Amino acid sequence: TIGTDLARTIARFGDREALVEVASGRRWTYAELGRAVDEVALGLLAKGVTKGDRVGIWAPNCAEWVLVQFATARIGAILVNVNPAYRVHELGYVLRQAGIGVLVSATHHKTSDYRGMIEQVRAESPALREVIYLGDDTWGELLAAGAGVPPQRLTACEAELTADDPVNIQYTSGTTGFPKGATLSHHNILNNGYWVGETLAYTEHDRVCLPVPFYHCFGMVMGNLGATSHGACIVIPAPAFDAAATLQAVQDERCTSLYGVPTMFIAELNHPDFASYDLSSLRTGIMAGSPCPEEVMKRVVAEMHMTEVSICYGMTETSPVSTQTRRDDDLAHRTATVGRVLPHIEVKVADPASGVTVPRGTPGELRTRGYSVMPGYWAEPERTAEVIDPARWMHTGDLAVMNDDGYVRIVGRIKDMIIRGGENVYPREIEEFLYSHPKIADVQVVGVPDEKYGEEIAACVILRDPEDPLTLDELAAYCRSHLAHYKVPRYLEILDTFPMTVSGKVRKVELRERLAGELG
Ligand code: ATP
Ligand code: MG
Repeated sequence: TIGTDLARTIARFGDREALVEVASGRRWTYAELGRAVDEVALGLLAKGVTKGDRVGIWAPNCAEWVLVQFATARIGAILVNVNPAYRVHELGYVLRQAGIGVLVSATHHKTSDYRGMIEQVRAESPALREVIYLGDDTWGELLAAGAGVPPQRLTACEAELTADDPVNIQYTSGTTGFPKGATLSHHNILNNGYWVGETLAYTEHDRVCLPVPFYHCFGMVMGNLGATSHGACIVIPAPAFDAAATLQAVQDERCTSLYGVPTMFIAELNHPDFASYDLSSLRTGIMAGSPCPEEVMKRVVAEMHMTEVSICYGMTETSPVSTQTRRDDDLAHRTATVGRVLPHIEVKVADPASGVTVPRGTPGELRTRGYSVMPGYWAEPERTAEVIDPARWMHTGDLAVMNDDGYVRIVGRIKDMIIRGGENVYPREIEEFLYSHPKIADVQVVGVPDEKYGEEIAACVILRDPEDPLTLDELAAYCRSHLAHYKVPRYLEILDTFPMTVSGKVRKVELRERLAGELG
């Protein structure tokens, strides 16, 4: 279990640094982390939390987030990660859907009044019996209550736990619709974190900078569990992503590893003071979460010292990582593919309709099976059955190509694929090409309904310079020289921003709906 694994790390590396919260300057060694986790765990026992109870956490990245993660695991409770961007309606939904009994929450975050929102939904959330606010008296009261509980109770909790017990409900990003709560076991996420760390060759000398949100598996599994399972140190640069704070933390804390979604690395590389930071301690790190542009990967290797940087592909439902590039992959494979399958996991590329494995080099749906696949969505067996087939293959909904050596390329999501007059069009191919247009800063390609062709192609563009406009004729002429005629966009939409999720992904559904309304 996660508790026994942490105990092993404490026994081996008790004196080494485990956790640093840069904003406050607070630091914990592994021995201190173990004691702090136990304090919180005893506090939760004092509050009546028992095995299988759902404990929610609603807070930006902070040290207490990590303490609560390990404390809940230690006593067999199920931690429910609540998205820091939720508004009152979504908060109410997750409190009810997961039946959260105890909620640990920030009082506020940025301009959001968490306390006020919790008060608004409390009456309609019958399971919620206790709210503990970080940074006010209730947190201190929790620890004080725990002091009255005999520490042997923790040993008793551990004895009742098995690795297959659920430890976490993590909601998907909500990129393609309403988020789904993936139930994950100790076995699921501890092994995945361990293998991700193993692939990066983590040791107790590594220091891992985590600007990615803990509420998402990227932060809490690939980050926190990847580090603790190897005795490495977790460095929290700031409560929420900030490019300058991240670069500063890497420099001051001599971090060896840095994580981010592509948009975070882009922001760091383009920061006006980028060149003034000393990033020479970096060795490795992870880019993941959405398509990783080759140009950005190359710059990360060349300009951030991250010569061993890795791309991971995965999804919340699979703990999350299925494929990952390795240190000894050559640069071409490390910038242009999502690597090969991790140990003890299977992946295949199948025809989405028939399920038959397609020949190497042919696009199809990526499917995966193994310890990493979640038991199911929380309290939603029908939705689980839609994605996990009777042979336990998880249907990812992602389109991929696998080459003869087993390297995987993600070509897009099935839901985003455009079928125009019977031809399959992959938006990502057109997007990668349009990135080369000098007037285009960012681009998303989506399908819109069309009477004649079923669907037509629309390019949504953010201009480099709003004063220097781009016309549809110009765009089409540019495309015609390089793309087959049926891939040339029929519509052009100029936008200031794209609708995004907190984990940093563009919500194409929303773009599609907006355009269908305007053009349809
Ligand atoms: P929802 O399921 O709620 O619509 P989501 O699928 O974005 O949201 P996550 O579980 O956070 O929620 O993300 C998993 C998805 O992210 C994958 O299915 C895939 O489409 C995309 N993804 C993850 N890593 C990569 C990568 N390296 N390259 C391309 N796409 C990736
Ligand atoms: Mg998904």
